[in-house]
Amino acid sequence: MADCECLPKCPFFHDQMSNMPSTAELVKKQYCSGPNADNMKCARHMVFVVLGRDGVPSDLYPSEAGRADRILAGR
Ligand code: SF4
Repeated sequence: MADCECLPKCPFFHDQMSNMPSTAELVKKQYCSGPNADNMKCARHMVFVVLGRDGVPSDLYPSEAGRADRILAGR
């Protein structure tokens, strides 16, 4: 799958994961970049698609799909 269009500017990697490089690599392979990545399952991307970049909380983790659903349900 193509890289997530958010990857170059995704604050998740530039802020939240800056001091956890090995965890960041695992998350990136799962959601953001590479043959097995699927950004459709990323909570950040789910919110981004509907609300845009400004609607994504900085502390939202890619695995928090349930939180993304609640954010989108409450809009
Ligand atoms: S898949 Fe999620 S965490 Fe990865 S770059 Fe896209 S929005 Fe950011």
